[in-house]
Amino acid sequence: MSERRPVTSSSARRMRLLLALPKLGIVLLLAALLSLLWLLQRNEAEEERSALIKDVLWLEQNMRFHLNGNEEQLQQLAVDLASQSTTDQLFRTRAAHMLKTRPEIASLLWLDGSRRTIDELPSHSQPEQEFESTLPPIAAKYFEIASRLGKPVYSDPYFATSGRAHVALLAPVIRERQLSSMLVAIYPLDSLLGNLVPWWFTEKYRVAIVDGNDIQFATKTNIEGSTSQTYQIPLEPPGYGLQLKVSSYPSPGNSLQRLLTFAIVILGAGVFSSLWMVRDLMRKRSLAEEALRAEHAFRTAMEDSLTVGMRARDLVGCITYVNPAFCKMTGFSSEELVGRLPPMPYWVPEQIEETFAIHRTVLAGNAPADGFELTLRRKNGERFQALIYEARLIDGNGQHTGWMASMLDITERKAAEELARQQQEQLQFTARLVTMGEMASTLAHELNQPLAAIASYNTGCLNLLERPDCRPAEIQPALQKLGVQAQRAGRIIRRVHDFVRKSEPKRAPCNLGEVIEDCLGFVEADARKKHVHIECTLPALPPIPADRLMLEQVLLNLIRNAMDAMEETPEKERQLRIAIETGASELRISVTDQGCGIHPDIRDKLFSAFFTTKPEGMGVGLSICRSIIEFHRGRLWAEDNADSATGSGTIFIFTLPLEAT
Ligand code: ADP
Repeated sequence: MSERRPVTSSSARRMRLLLALPKLGIVLLLAALLSLLWLLQRNEAEEERSALIKDVLWLEQNMRFHLNGNEEQLQQLAVDLASQSTTDQLFRTRAAHMLKTRPEIASLLWLDGSRRTIDELPSHSQPEQEFESTLPPIAAKYFEIASRLGKPVYSDPYFATSGRAHVALLAPVIRERQLSSMLVAIYPLDSLLGNLVPWWFTEKYRVAIVDGNDIQFATKTNIEGSTSQTYQIPLEPPGYGLQLKVSSYPSPGNSLQRLLTFAIVILGAGVFSSLWMVRDLMRKRSLAEEALRAEHAFRTAMEDSLTVGMRARDLVGCITYVNPAFCKMTGFSSEELVGRLPPMPYWVPEQIEETFAIHRTVLAGNAPADGFELTLRRKNGERFQALIYEARLIDGNGQHTGWMASMLDITERKAAEELARQQQEQLQFTARLVTMGEMASTLAHELNQPLAAIASYNTGCLNLLERPDCRPAEIQPALQKLGVQAQRAGRIIRRVHDFVRKSEPKRAPCNLGEVIEDCLGFVEADARKKHVHIECTLPALPPIPADRLMLEQVLLNLIRNAMDAMEETPEKERQLRIAIETGASELRISVTDQGCGIHPDIRDKLFSAFFTTKPEGMGVGLSICRSIIEFHRGRLWAEDNADSATGSGTIFIFTLPLEAT
């Protein structure tokens, strides 16, 4: 754990840095975009303003030219009126022409020196023009100024009774240096704007005529709404503080820009929040990766420390994985094995067919559940015994993807088992020799009987032969008896020879009755000597798969133990019974005595090797008997003899299967 913490903190630091970089990038990008927008907007505003100023200057100039033109025409009329004698018609013609070509002029008045109207156009009879065509009192002072200056003069703006603002242009008619009359052109300011401001101008701007106090006299526009920029310029003529105020309307580009700014901010917020989510995801992912790495390291460590070889194969038998223990066992590296198809390099060449058959059984899913043994070879050619367990390989989706095998090198275990088996065999053999040694004197005595009989028959025959009247017919019975005794001696010797013969244990069909008879033949003399009566009832028995010599050893051992146990039993009670019961699948053989019985304290130790209660006993007899019976797939145990006439005694029982398993 102490090693993992720095790894975690350094990877967390790296992740924080990784996440901080895009965040910083996005902030910078947003800042760059917003400043670009701001710059664009500023540029646009500046351009708009310069366009506004240019347009206003143009308009002002245009209006000035126009008004100056009017002024010149009016002055020309004044000059013409002064120079001609018949002037009535002249005024009417020229005024009508002016009003027609200069629609911004509402009316033209011709006043005499006392400000009385000589003529006017349009004529007074048109009622709606009445107020506009009358010179207001405020203009009276400009009458004086114009007559004194002798040149056209504009009046202050004034509001007529209709509420419309006007200015008047007064041009004196000077004849012989005397004011003879006055021409007055009346401009309604809204009509001035209406006629002198072109239509396209009002599509872009709102044009107004204001004074220094921002009092509006006239206005013209085609669009309603708020304005963005305004520019004012003095309107001269007429002057008197009148200003031309032009305001521009916000261009549609502005709202688009605002929309764009809004979209950028929203997108930025979106990117930020998604980055936040990614950060969360990455954190979770890095935690999961960390856990996975730890898990992987743990599994690798576990696999590496395994002493059991592990091998995975796919469904066609191709190796997909081997662990270090498997490589160590076979001597082949993982690179040499992974991806290989059968035959595998660790198969024994001379058993290739058998190994292939096992391989096919495994792939068919019929591998034995409790494993199977197989001889394999290492890379250096050395053979070894392997115990292999095969299991299905199921992936995370529950799919059967192949086969997983665990393999144990059981060569040493096998060798140890073999050694133990050989030692057991040796022990059995030794035990038989010991038994024979113990029985040697009895057997010698047993052998002595037929030999003595043979000797006496021989002497009898010789004596008969010495007689002159000896007939062969008399010798014949003696010789026959001699032969029988010789056979008896031969049987004893053969039995001893058979018993001490060293041979490999093997289970072959054998007649248990004959085995028992042989044993009885052995112990007959001993039993006689010890006054033990052996009772044996043998039913008809089928041959059973067993090693005859081994069974003989068991029976002999049990019979001799039983006789030993009855040493203290009164002579007439020294009964030993051998019985055989035939079951459905096994034979049950019992050896019953009426001896001392087995004390409860030693019952558990009876079958342990080297346990004996006899002064010169070896204590291996019963342990050998049990291993022999277990070799025959049977059981051996001891019970108390409840039916004993002496009140004590033991029954040793063992079973033997009727069929080979
Ligand atoms: P050994 O005969 O050399 O002592 P065994 O393994 O044959 O070795 O017997 C072990 C012990 O079991 C004997 O010493 C004896 O105490 C006890 N035993 C065996 N058979 C009998 C029996 N039939 N009755 C009583 N005790 C017995």
